[in-house]
Amino acid sequence: MASESYIEGLNKMVIEAKRAAEVILSFSGEIRLISHYDADGISSAAIMAMALSRAGKRFRLTLLRQLEEEYIKDLSKEKNAFYVITDMGSGQLEKIKKHLNGSKIIICDHHEMQGVPDDNIIHINAFEAGMGNNMSGSGVSYILARAMSKKNTDLSFLAIIGAIGDSQIDSIGKNWGLNGLNREILKDAQSVKKIKVAKGIRLWGRYTRPVHKALEYTIDPFIPGITGSEERAVALLNELKIPLRAREGGWRTLADLTEDEQRRLASGIIVARINGRHENPDEIFGDVYEFPDRSGEFKDANEFATILNSCGKTGKADLGVRLCLKDKGSEEEAKKTVLEYRRLISSSVRWAQIQIEKKTDCVIFGKGIYLLAEEKIPEDIISNVMSIINHAGIIKPGIPIFGFAGKGNVKVSARIDKTLTGGPVNLKEIVFKAASACGGEGGGHATASGARIPPGMHERFISIVEDELTNLNISNTINEDTNSI
Ligand code: C5P
Ligand code: ZN
Repeated sequence: MASESYIEGLNKMVIEAKRAAEVILSFSGEIRLISHYDADGISSAAIMAMALSRAGKRFRLTLLRQLEEEYIKDLSKEKNAFYVITDMGSGQLEKIKKHLNGSKIIICDHHEMQGVPDDNIIHINAFEAGMGNNMSGSGVSYILARAMSKKNTDLSFLAIIGAIGDSQIDSIGKNWGLNGLNREILKDAQSVKKIKVAKGIRLWGRYTRPVHKALEYTIDPFIPGITGSEERAVALLNELKIPLRAREGGWRTLADLTEDEQRRLASGIIVARINGRHENPDEIFGDVYEFPDRSGEFKDANEFATILNSCGKTGKADLGVRLCLKDKGSEEEAKKTVLEYRRLISSSVRWAQIQIEKKTDCVIFGKGIYLLAEEKIPEDIISNVMSIINHAGIIKPGIPIFGFAGKGNVKVSARIDKTLTGGPVNLKEIVFKAASACGGEGGGHATASGARIPPGMHERFISIVEDELTNLNISNTINEDTNSI
């Protein structure tokens, strides 16, 4: 049974967590808390910050994009006696051992382990415990917080935000929602009334996206004839007699629709999927996670996770932590940050689109398409931009696109849309191979992968990718006769 398969892994983590809790509770100096800057890392940091302050411990927090060796070296100069590292650290065990030797270290992570921990390190890792897909860094941090005090059960909702931020909602088919150990944490959150679970149409942006936009952008569930077309999305709502605008004039979101309108919309989507001969036309519903004590865009767990990511990617991860802990004024500040983030994304997407359409010097067309953004697009958002371009309809499905951003070590983000075409391209393998050959590192998934490569290596990277695509018999993106993509 599924439930039994993770009990053993959970027990393993709980034993380590208890050991870690004892060490924390008996320590009286300042604890150095370090976490990742994305939604999962921010949620992890918030959980630990609250657990430590409830236990009367002093701590200092830093949120980072990556735990690089240079940074660990700098940390060693601070001569801290105690570190708690969350949502990162497992991939840097050897560097941590080398530079922070002599300090006590607790790691709560769910990434693959590189190297082995020594006696100074208490390593609590979900991946090692066999639960990489259904347990996030904040889930592991929550297990530690719970081992410190039962009072911390009310922090469980933060682990759910982290899991969602790390895409641990099984997004395909009937089981849409949180599964495995995440579901157990969800039960904790429900028991203390921090989360309410409802069934709903699983469209993104329940509280913030105009419903016609939510329909246009939805990929899972895919709505044949409507996904990708604002015009057809508007036409569907008109047919169903669902007004697009509220009486006061603003756009209506999914959450604004009456129950009857939501039912009509659900039937409309199912009919479109039947007409489009979709295999499972009725698989459009899923669990919706809401926070009863929040309102507006802060009510839906999906959107909350997106907001935390916006904070991290605009250099305000600490605001994300304050938001998690409901600090005064943080919601207002976060609203401004989301606007700033959206503007940054849309200007970056516009820039990328123009380069591709006008075939400027910033784009190389081969068997793949390569966007050399350098510092035109911040490296923190190149992956969002590539995801949007991938689904914007300017590039034919089945063609891989690669974005390169930043000076110094270059961030690479690769995407391919295979929803309709399938095809042999596995970006994870190709990117891993090319990045390794360039002295960098990369990986990810078959349709979305990323890498970091040393300065000046992008040409070599591209040439290796082109060789790989040639081996797969992929044709050129530019039609030589018409010069069109
Ligand atoms: O950064 P981006 O969203 O483009 O990354 C896509 C995928 O590639 C993610 O799953 C990420 O974990 C992975 N990746 C990686 N190594 C990197 C950068 C990203 O494995 N250096
Ligand atoms: Zn994570």
